[in-house]
Amino acid sequence: MAGKETLVEKIMRVMKDRTKIRNISTAAHIDHGKTTVSDSLLAGAGMLSEEIAGQARALDYLEEEQQRGITIQAAAVSMVHEYEGETYLINLIDTPGHIDFSGEVTRAMRAVDGVIIIVDAVEGVMPQTETVIRQSLKEYVKPILFINKVDRLITELKLDAKQMQERFAKIIKDVNRLIEEFAPEEFKGKWKVSVEDGSVAFGSGIHKWAISLPYIKKTGITFKDIIEAYEKGKEAVRELAKKIPLHKVLLDMVVKHLPSPVEAQQYRIKHIWTGDLESEVGKALVNCDPNGPLVIEITKIIVDPQAGELGLGRVFSGTAKRGMEVFLRYAQRSVKLQQIYVSKGPHRLQVEEVPAGNIIGIAGIKGLSVGEIITSSPDIPPFKEIKHLFEPVVTKAVEVKNPKDLGKLIQVLRAIGKEYYPDVKVEINERTGEYLISGQGELHLEWIETKIRKYFGLDIVTSPPIVVYRETVTKRGEVAEGKSPNKHNKIYIQVEPLEDQVYEAIRKGLIPEGKVKKGQLWKILEKYGMDREEAKRVLDICGGNVFVDMTVGIIHLREAIDMILTAFEQMCKEGPLAKEPMTKVKVKLVDAILHEDAIHRGPAQIIPATRQAIRKAFFSAAPTLLEPIQRIRIDGNAEYFSNVAKLIQSKRGKLREVEHKGDKVTIIADMPVAELIGFTSELRSASQGRMAWFRVDQYFAPVPKEMVKDIIKRIRERKGLPPEIKGLEETEE
Ligand code: GDP
Repeated sequence: MAGKETLVEKIMRVMKDRTKIRNISTAAHIDHGKTTVSDSLLAGAGMLSEEIAGQARALDYLEEEQQRGITIQAAAVSMVHEYEGETYLINLIDTPGHIDFSGEVTRAMRAVDGVIIIVDAVEGVMPQTETVIRQSLKEYVKPILFINKVDRLITELKLDAKQMQERFAKIIKDVNRLIEEFAPEEFKGKWKVSVEDGSVAFGSGIHKWAISLPYIKKTGITFKDIIEAYEKGKEAVRELAKKIPLHKVLLDMVVKHLPSPVEAQQYRIKHIWTGDLESEVGKALVNCDPNGPLVIEITKIIVDPQAGELGLGRVFSGTAKRGMEVFLRYAQRSVKLQQIYVSKGPHRLQVEEVPAGNIIGIAGIKGLSVGEIITSSPDIPPFKEIKHLFEPVVTKAVEVKNPKDLGKLIQVLRAIGKEYYPDVKVEINERTGEYLISGQGELHLEWIETKIRKYFGLDIVTSPPIVVYRETVTKRGEVAEGKSPNKHNKIYIQVEPLEDQVYEAIRKGLIPEGKVKKGQLWKILEKYGMDREEAKRVLDICGGNVFVDMTVGIIHLREAIDMILTAFEQMCKEGPLAKEPMTKVKVKLVDAILHEDAIHRGPAQIIPATRQAIRKAFFSAAPTLLEPIQRIRIDGNAEYFSNVAKLIQSKRGKLREVEHKGDKVTIIADMPVAELIGFTSELRSASQGRMAWFRVDQYFAPVPKEMVKDIIKRIRERKGLPPEIKGLEETEE
């Protein structure tokens, strides 16, 4: 019967067998071969014709990406794979390779349970390999390893089998070190990859072969045979690819080592969802139950000027059926599921229903956004925010050349803000009427601009890039009082710098942000150095700031606390100095006097009182600005080293590491983002085009003292605020 079954029928059958599904992603440093490998997988699994794979780059579907040669959009494709007599459905979500698009990677990780980490055998582990490993582990996504471009070890570096193995051993060791460092506690020691258990494979994406220990055992083919094939020539390599086809070796590894949605949701749900696991919907989620309430989380929006918005998401529980009435949890309205899709290879296939455990495409719903939950259970608690490694730190103002186009610009910006939420932020400055887009770097914004121009056909001009700062405090301040407008309520706040280690752990996603539920979070906070009593009293973590309730026995506090936290979160987003986000501040509630009558302590009273108290406390704690610093890596020709070192120093940069290898040099430097604007072309001229740079990490550091005042003034002017900060007594601006 299996022989007669069409591909579509097969997909429909396996879609319902949740243990036979694998939702996976590939992730790699740029140029390590993600797209090539993905295309070979698709072709091999019979989803593309063989000849065009490799050139087809089915996943790079925007013209823009083809030109730049980087995969920007994370598209979904599916493959059918036979393993030990059973049919499996493998849904692959492709992720962009460039670090400026790391938000896309993070979101793709929410939808999958496993990832193939691809590492170039010649280059080894690179900074972005570390980033993608961190991103996947943070989402409880299990890794396996594929070492790609092994052909280059043979044809270019002329290594013998033994030397090749030494190189592999080093890569595996490096990858495992990272997995150990970033693996969630419960999987430390368990998620390491190894040749012995078959969770590592080696091969060539371009020549479409791969080998792993199980395949060495099965076929008797060794690395010596592979080297010989390359010595014999193209035909022999083609023969080799028939004996050990890349897709078979890799997809076998996927089926055997990466979890099904049923298995993965058992441990993932408690980390990615905030609700009670014992509730009806909690149980359905944990069990990936197709008969439970419908819960879909949208992880990507594709905006197509012709076809409109398509939402991609993961069905975590229940079954989506065409025509069904569902609820959008965040948009707070009911809609009908009119068009639902799954993928067939790179194509969309419209279907009648999609059960739990699958990736779904949804068209025809206006106003979908990333993070939206589509559900039959309107009061479902939210999923945890998809945590990004890097926040937007560079902003540009956008204008249309022709005022007639303004309406369209607003529409397009909204769509873009949604499509790339939250690593691209779109805002309207109500005071100045400017349209602002914020992204992760110059290339990132340039790409968005090109998209607006070409894809949406809008003629725009943009301002030079502006850096986004952070506000913080440098010492413990005084206890400050905030009074409500009706004078009946008083809130007492003290602020101080948050412990370095706690802040770092939040930044790395090791401590989750959001309101704290009863539970064990205090133990983690204590582990990172917070006092135990305080740790137990943490109520909210927002933007790298922590709110602690130090009070005892305050009457009515329970009813007021949500409003106090709202005020705290508002201040986290727009700090007191220049309405830049606040960070690394510990805000302590030390006392409160609340009116006994609920009418006199509503949000209009408590929120301003708390804001005032935080503002005053903040000003008494030696406030300052932090600026974004990017750790960058520069690779290139050693001849130009001293030129480049001078350039770095002239831009307030700090050299951290310099490694010479033959005539090549690798430099790691920390650069203020403000000075990185225009850096690409300056580096080009300092090195005659022989050096290139990319970002490795990003953090915030204090702005040099002598610059603080000026910068605050500049930001305030730009935002249409009075340039000087008024007296401390001032309640609001
Ligand atoms: P991505 O940025 O990770 O998606 O990488 P691509 O798949 O676009 O590959 C980057 C470059 O490496 C392209 O020029 C590919 O042709 C090349 N490439 C990919 N896989 C292999 C391989 O196995 N061997 C060799 N020699 N080149 C490869």
